Amino acid sequence: MSHPPSDAEARLSVPPVICYPNDTLPVPNMAVYERALQAADTVTTVEAAPRDACAFRVPAGGFFRITSVGGPQVGDLNLWNAHDLSERFYSGKTRALHGTHVTTGERLWSSFPTLRPMATIVADSLDWYGIDQYGGSVHDVIGTRCDPYTGNLLGGSQYHHCCHSNLTRALADATGLSLVDAEPHVHDVLNVFMCTGFTRDTGQYFMKASPVRPGDHLTFFAEIDLLGALSACPGGDCSAEHSSDVASCYPLRVDVLKAPDDMLAGWQPPAVNGYDRSHGRGG
Ligand SMILES: [Zn+2]
Repeated sequence: MSHPPSDAEARLSVPPVICYPNDTLPVPNMAVYERALQAADTVTTVEAAPRDACAFRVPAGGFFRITSVGGPQVGDLNLWNAHDLSERFYSGKTRALHGTHVTTGERLWSSFPTLRPMATIVADSLDWYGIDQYGGSVHDVIGTRCDPYTGNLLGGSQYHHCCHSNLTRALADATGLSLVDAEPHVHDVLNVFMCTGFTRDTGQYFMKASPVRPGDHLTFFAEIDLLGALSACPGGDCSAEHSSDVASCYPLRVDVLKAPDDMLAGWQPPAVNGYDRSHGRGG
């Protein structure tokens, strides 16, 4: 290790600043969402079988609710603009804006060039969990998604029920795309119900048994027409390992709900991002 400079203490003690202060973000009108949610009825229900994924469509102004059924289970969520798969959930920017984990009142943002809210979290039965003594919390936008390529890289395996493959099959089935054409649209996920953090001493990504129990749910408002896919991760509650058939796995239910339109007075779908896209050339 290099010898610390004479002013090392002074450099170490510089206080951090928040990279993206989010006090200028448009604030969602939660009262409107909550009223509409109370008046909403279930329109469709689908279920992700253990170690598999389901797809679902949610119209702008509707809701979707992910519910744990049967036992503790983590879900990997992808979202696309239902009319344009190139607009998709951007986990990295969502993390930059809201932090490593998301809960009620926070939003899932879309990729460039649209960068707008795709969905807003309106209810989270695990919001009591907060941040535990290890620095862990639930619903992270840290992780990527379990995938067969990393498993092959690290262990030479051929495992076909990682979230990446499950989401690829679900998207292909929902759109009619081939697996080859669907795969590039699968992206880094929101880890629903997953409990994760970084170790303070080594900065390593950790997971621990999810606190989710049957009946727990995470509910979203769709800001635009959405196509979603949810994988019931082969890691189960992610207490031990990924990418195998060892863990106990359970289904996850997705309910799509809709309130009468007049309940949404005061809400408008978000416009695409206002940057002019000239990138410093022309005019
Ligand atoms: Zn997974």
